[in-house]
Amino acid sequence: MKRSIILIVLLVFLAIPAVAQQKVKDLKPTVVLISIDGFRYDYLDLYSPPNLSKLAEKGVRARWMIPSFPTKTFPNHYTVATGLYPQNHGITDNNMYDPEFDAEFGLGKREEVQNPRWWGGEPIWVTAEKQGQTAAAYFFPGTETKIGGVQPTFWREYDGDVANETRIDTILTWFDLPANERPTMYTLYFSDVDDAGHRYSPDAEETRAAVLKVDEMIGRLVDGFKKRGIEGKVNLIIVSDHGMVTVPARNRIVLDEMFDVSKAERVIWVGEIVQIWPKEGEEDAIYNAIKPKLPGQAKIYRKSEIPARYKYSKNRRIAPLLVLPDAGWVLVNRARADKMDAERPADSVGGSHGYDNLAPEMRALFIANGPAFKRSYTADPFSNVEVYNLMCHILGLTPAPNDGYLDNVKEVLKK
Ligand code: AMP
Ligand code: ZN
Ligand code: ZN
Repeated sequence: MKRSIILIVLLVFLAIPAVAQQKVKDLKPTVVLISIDGFRYDYLDLYSPPNLSKLAEKGVRARWMIPSFPTKTFPNHYTVATGLYPQNHGITDNNMYDPEFDAEFGLGKREEVQNPRWWGGEPIWVTAEKQGQTAAAYFFPGTETKIGGVQPTFWREYDGDVANETRIDTILTWFDLPANERPTMYTLYFSDVDDAGHRYSPDAEETRAAVLKVDEMIGRLVDGFKKRGIEGKVNLIIVSDHGMVTVPARNRIVLDEMFDVSKAERVIWVGEIVQIWPKEGEEDAIYNAIKPKLPGQAKIYRKSEIPARYKYSKNRRIAPLLVLPDAGWVLVNRARADKMDAERPADSVGGSHGYDNLAPEMRALFIANGPAFKRSYTADPFSNVEVYNLMCHILGLTPAPNDGYLDNVKEVLKK
């Protein structure tokens, strides 16, 4: 008897959370923008992640999304958020120098990442807040500072160690707020797939595992919606910032041995795009030294010569000289080359991105699912500058000036 009472009490207790989960009944048009860093467009077919595949099959999938140049994390996240090309929003690379500020920006420099002076344009969360809606970010480049004086109501300082489950569950608690406090615009970010792609290459088992791990988180989010009675009622936009290409350890070009480095004021050594700031009067000397020595897998450009299709010349943060390797190659200095030799076997492979935004391996992911979107629809590729207008349209916001055209993506919307 006593036992069965305990059992009943226990059962009632266990049942409470399910009963207590309030249904969300007064949902306004809502967008959750999810970025899966480094998720190459074809991982969906290569690795068949069940939750993402289901959302893509039942909703919209673009054959791929065209990233902006350079195909790096911060420039492309901020392009998705603003609808502006990097030269127009100012985050021209993960690492950059501003001659007016005489300062360098980098992902690890918290005080710069959180300094509004770097961030131009108007990201979607600012558009939403300015027009009376509420925005919430569980990570997204640009959400950790005020832009145009405005920050998302809810945001978190970036910490890659925060469990993905915590990110999802926190987003869900924001859905539980009363309608007048509940955000309509959410961002979420996962780095696992990019991390694995870099370390092990896009074809590695570890990358498959990372894709499946993030896919589980998408499942967790959809389950949370189900419990709240809003499955299929939230507009999910799932994107990546760029793809990933295999880089064999031997595919490297030692650049500092091709010119007199003392003629440069600074060199920003990033493997996929080296930015050279020459000392006064030394630009020609550096250019003329490097140009004849470069192998066929890399090119040097003066800022004025950068091909127009890169849309990458109109910002003071773009260096006077750029050296760009082909996809699958990296530029290094001697010190870095020696370090690589010590750390990695000569026949090892890794992964990288940052290259030509039209290189097939750089293609990004676009999946959309929700009441605003067509069902079971495959869209032709479009640029990632188009996502901002799409989000504004769904949320009923007037977009700030940007480089996209709603007409270019209207086909994904329900008529
Ligand atoms: P990338 O060097 O282009 O491969 O950048 C990817 C890395 O960016 C990830 O491993 C993340 O740790 C990092 N990252 C993403 N978002 C942020 C952020 N808001 N602040 C600092 N680092 C970030
Ligand atoms: Zn990235
Ligand atoms: Zn990366």
